[in-house]
Amino acid sequence: MKVKVISVLEDNYMYLVIEENTKEAVVVDASVPKRLLEIVRKEGVTLKAILTTHHHWDHARGNEELAKVYPELQVYGADERIGALTHKVTHNEELKFGDINVRCLFTPCHTSGHMCYFMWEENSPDAPALFSGDTLFIGGCGKFFEGTAEQMYKNLTEILGALPKDTKVFCGHEYTVRNLKFALKVEPENESVKKKLAWAKLRDDEDLPTVPSTLQEEFHYNPFLRVSEESVQQFTGKAAPVDVLRALRTEKDNFKKPKERLTPQAMLAFEWGLFGPFMGKK
Ligand SMILES: [Zn+2]
Repeated sequence: MKVKVISVLEDNYMYLVIEENTKEAVVVDASVPKRLLEIVRKEGVTLKAILTTHHHWDHARGNEELAKVYPELQVYGADERIGALTHKVTHNEELKFGDINVRCLFTPCHTSGHMCYFMWEENSPDAPALFSGDTLFIGGCGKFFEGTAEQMYKNLTEILGALPKDTKVFCGHEYTVRNLKFALKVEPENESVKKKLAWAKLRDDEDLPTVPSTLQEEFHYNPFLRVSEESVQQFTGKAAPVDVLRALRTEKDNFKKPKERLTPQAMLAFEWGLFGPFMGKK
């Protein structure tokens, strides 16, 4: 099983997962079809399916276009709002693509229909892989747009947290540096946070992805997986794990965003006092 990490849009990831015997492939979150098709061609693989984590446009907007290119394409997901959906999957449902097994893990909260995908290959020494969308990030977790802290707690502890510790984590966005800066605020003494943040900054400088991590690592530096730790409880002033998680999420939502890097055009506009129109532009 080979995973191609494809950076798209501002900070999103698409993943092309290749079954190397059959040269069949599935894509997790197809947001930029042109980019995906280039890589499918370059790798010489047949695209069988799209696995969509959730309906947000930066994860699902390429589905319809790809379904037109490949009329046989299967589109999996757990939310009716996902474009071109052909198979609505449920929690623990298993799919098979050649030797690749997929278990669908329902993790509602970021959106009410969010699905993660856990993959492993028959008779392979490779560690399994988790495609965690906008539920679990490296060093962080997704915003609670359509769910509760209780749901996210269940997602992170009972569902994703219970997977094998060597599972590789491939998340939906490159938010690692920002997440770990917050993690350092939560636990200023945590050496794992410091180490991972220093590493992530180097990767960022070279424009390299920080995915994948492993689940084992996440337990060491991701505050959202450490809600039962005394240091994290102290930071939030709460004791019950769900309350700690809720408080952490609120803190993170208010954590100052780094200054946006300005494009040369924006810099010019700024100098000419025309900054207004660029504000809030995505
Ligand atoms: Zn999202």
